[in-house]
Amino acid sequence: MASRSPTRRAGPIVRQKTLKSAIGCTGIGLHSGAKVRMTLHPAASDTGIVFRRRDLDRDNEIAALWTNVSDTRLCSRLSNASGASVMTVEHVMAALAGAEIDNCIVEVNGPEIPAMDGSAAPFLFLIECAGVTEQPLPRRAIQVLRPVSLADGDKRMTIAPGGTLTIDCTIDFDSTAISRQSITTTLETATFREDIARARTFGFAHEVAQLRAAGLARGGSLENAVVIDGDRVLNADGVRFPDEFVRHKVLDCVGDLYLAGGPLLARVRSERAGHELNNLILRELFSRDATWRRVDLTEDLLAATSGPIRGQPQLVAG
Ligand SMILES: [Zn+2]
Repeated sequence: MASRSPTRRAGPIVRQKTLKSAIGCTGIGLHSGAKVRMTLHPAASDTGIVFRRRDLDRDNEIAALWTNVSDTRLCSRLSNASGASVMTVEHVMAALAGAEIDNCIVEVNGPEIPAMDGSAAPFLFLIECAGVTEQPLPRRAIQVLRPVSLADGDKRMTIAPGGTLTIDCTIDFDSTAISRQSITTTLETATFREDIARARTFGFAHEVAQLRAAGLARGGSLENAVVIDGDRVLNADGVRFPDEFVRHKVLDCVGDLYLAGGPLLARVRSERAGHELNNLILRELFSRDATWRRVDLTEDLLAATSGPIRGQPQLVAG
C-alpha cells in the first residue's frame, strides 16, 4: 500500500470540527415513546462526542464509545458506569459522522434520542443550520491495519484496511417488499446527505405487539418508520428509495461504527448484520493491538484504497 511507504509525504492534515452554535429539536423516542428535547452543543477539541442526560443530577455524561454500548436490541443504547443511559443513538451518530463532526455534546432531557422521521436527515439538517467550524488540532482517526471478521449464523461482517470509510452492505428478507438489496457507499458528506441520510428505519407490522410488550417501539408509527405488512409497505407515500431498507442499514452501520471514537479508515462488508454485530466487530478490532492504530488524519490517509476483502470470519461465541 503506497500510503504506508515511509518516503511518501503525509499530505495536508485534516482538522477537527465542531458546530458553530447550539441547535435543538423536540420529538418522540422511537422505543420509549417519551417526548424528548435534544440540543447539539459545540465542544472543545478532543472532547469527542458525549451524550448528556440533562434530567439527571449527576454522573449524567456518557461518552459515545463502543465500550459504553449496553444494549443492541433494535437500537444501540449507551450507558455509563453509574447506569445513566441513552437509547437509539445511532441515527444522530450517523449524522455527526456524515458531517465529520468530532466534538459535540448531545444533550437530552430523557432516555432516548428523538426519532424525528426515523432517518438521519433531520439531524444533518440541524448540524448544517448551526454551521460547522474547524478546530486547531488534527482529527484522530482509527486506521485498520489487518482484516477482522465475525460471523453469527448467516450474519457476517468484515472490517479491512482502507481510506475514507467504505461500506458494502447486503440485506436479505423473506418479504418481497424488501427481498435482497445491496449497496456500496463511501462516507463523504455529500454522498451521505444524498444517498443515505434520508433512509428511514423500518419494521414489520406483525412484530409490533411483541416489541411493545418488550418495552420497544412504543413511539413507533408511520410518521417515523417504514412499516411492512407481509409483502406490502403500509406508508401511504411508499418508500423514499427503491432500496431504502439497505440504505438505512448503511446509516445504522455508519452511526454504530462512529462509536469507534473517531473516523475509521477502513473498508467494511456487512451481510445481514445489525447493531449487535456492528458493536461486536469493534470489540474484536480493539481487542488486539496489531489490528489497528490511532493516527492524526491526513488527506493521504483518506485517499488510500484497499484491495479485496479477505479473511476467515471468527464465529461469534455464545
Ligand atoms: Zn436505524
